[in-house]
Amino acid sequence: MAVPKRRRSRSKQKSRVAANRWHAPLFQPCGNCGAPVPGHIACPSCGVYRGRKVFNVEL
Ligand SMILES: [Zn+2]
Repeated sequence: MAVPKRRRSRSKQKSRVAANRWHAPLFQPCGNCGAPVPGHIACPSCGVYRGRKVFNVEL
């Protein structure tokens, strides 16, 4: 059975664990209406994604 040659330092271990940790999505203001929208998602208030209307918002 393979055995690790060296023990990982505490900071190395922590940074590896931190990379897999869940973090809240970053909200950016919509380019069309300015509402905060998470990345890679069409704006729910105006339906625009990357300057193109992808769906109509029902009122
Ligand atoms: Zn918008």
